[in-house]
Amino acid sequence: LAVKGVQALSPYQPGKPIEELARELGLNPAEIIKLASNENPLGPSEKALAAARKALEELCLYPDGNGFELKQALANRFGVGMDQITLGNGSNDVLEVIARCFADTESEVVFSQYAFAVYPIVTQAIGAKGVPVPAKEWGHDLDAMAAAVTERTKLVFVANPNNPTGTVHTARAIESFLDKIPERVLVVLDEAYCEYLTGEEYPDGIKLLERYPNLIVCRTFSKAWGLAALRVGYAISSPAIADILNRVRQPFNVDSVALAAATAVLQDEAYLNRSREVNAAGLRQLSEAFELIGLPYIPSAGNFIAVEVGDQAQGIYQSLLSHGVIVRPIAGYGMPLHLRVSVGLPEENERFLDALSQSLAAAG
Ligand code: PMP
Repeated sequence: LAVKGVQALSPYQPGKPIEELARELGLNPAEIIKLASNENPLGPSEKALAAARKALEELCLYPDGNGFELKQALANRFGVGMDQITLGNGSNDVLEVIARCFADTESEVVFSQYAFAVYPIVTQAIGAKGVPVPAKEWGHDLDAMAAAVTERTKLVFVANPNNPTGTVHTARAIESFLDKIPERVLVVLDEAYCEYLTGEEYPDGIKLLERYPNLIVCRTFSKAWGLAALRVGYAISSPAIADILNRVRQPFNVDSVALAAATAVLQDEAYLNRSREVNAAGLRQLSEAFELIGLPYIPSAGNFIAVEVGDQAQGIYQSLLSHGVIVRPIAGYGMPLHLRVSVGLPEENERFLDALSQSLAAAG
């Protein structure tokens, strides 16, 4: 019954709930650590939590369908107009709305090999043709992506940093890429992990909007802001693009608790800074350990690292599970030799590394 694109769709693979896994493994749920979904290991910001609790008192009312306060807070933070913002139920929602608005069965959509799984999913769901471009050193080959644009191309997805590889491009590279893309093609710059970037050399997509009217920047509250459960993401674009996206999104796509928490967390700069510090220290801890063990890994700018454990990756993943450590196999991304591990708290990283050493030893 389903339309052609949908029939061919393979579902996004979310992790299993911890309770279910614990039951399967015969472990106590409290003993399990989940480093599989690039979540923030700090737990939520107290400010966000207080705002969410307060919002719960009004559960019988519809949320503000325009997300006025959150948009205002975002507009102030980034120096853009409220009419440039589209809110989504997570940035996945925004990515899907973008695909629905700007591509159809006649269109081609360009993205990189090893890029975020949602790009091919939303492309296929609308019956458009996905054009995956071979990666370069695990990252996007931006020149090849620009060269892959044809008359039919409507959208190009660029993840910077990318998930699951953690690769990142400099501002100069992104700008020179944007210079090559015709204005009739929209570029979606997915900056889900941009808050973890430090250093002048990296782009702030929002600053590029004035120069590139065909640019849409997507961001999320799920990572550095620590609100993955609440599902809040947003796009910032020209007002004309935002107008279209806002016509197509569901009118109440972000709920009141999420709106309140996201608005509040934007006032919690200390939380953001802690997220960054814990992440930078965790990335160091994991990379240094991989070097010591002699495991190749892809240097990451995100809150996770893809580490190459070899052709026994699936067995190592299972063995880690039996130690109560959940990571993410990424064979589905075409990376069967790697596992992706999210950065945890120092003691969680340590437990993962211990379990990894034992699993590698057992695998011989
Ligand atoms: N983009 C990228 C590159 C991601 O890795 C993720 C999360 N896995 C998302 C977007 C979507 O995040 P969310 O829907 O939670 O905002």
